Order: sequence, then C-alpha cells, then structure tokens
Amino acid sequence: MDNKSLEYSTTTVICATCGIEFETTVAHLFGKQFTIGKYCHDCAARLSEIEQYQKDYELEVANMKIRRRWRENCGIDPRYQVKDFTNFNTNRPGNV
Ligand SMILES: [Zn+2]
Repeated sequence: MDNKSLEYSTTTVICATCGIEFETTVAHLFGKQFTIGKYCHDCAARLSEIEQYQKDYELEVANMKIRRRWRENCGIDPRYQVKDFTNFNTNRPGNV
C-alpha cells in the first residue's frame, strides 16, 4: 500500500450534541475524507459513559434472567432456596 494514500489534517466542526465548535481530525484516504468524531470531548465522554451504563444494565438484566432460570430449573423446592448452612450444628442428632 502506498504510504501517501492515508493522510491526516484537522478541521473545525460543530458538536452534534451541544453545538460548540471544536477541532477534530480528518483522515484522507484514497481521495475521500473521513471526519473522526462528531462530538466534542465533553459530549463524547458523556455519551461513552451512557453507553457503558446501558451495556452494564443489559448485562445485569441478562444475568438476572439466567439466575432466575437456574432457580426455576435447579430442582430445589423454592422454600429451601433461601436457606443456608450458617446455623448447621453437627452435634444435633441426625446431622453428620
Ligand atoms: Zn458537545
């Protein structure tokens, strides 16, 4: 590939969210221009944070669905699913 086929420059654009002007990079590749980033630094950071929150939320929903399916299909009676062995006493008759 020819090294001259990819060049960069900078330009001023208007943020698609807040409307302020900011400098961004333009890639020139095979005669076409690609502006890198249409959001200012602050809006890009906020959008990234929101996207991460949405991903975390979707992952938590998926985990909750899996946990519910495990509980429904594990074969343990629902009244015993919240029990644990914290008060298990091996000295009581019948406990080994
Ligand atoms: Zn902005």
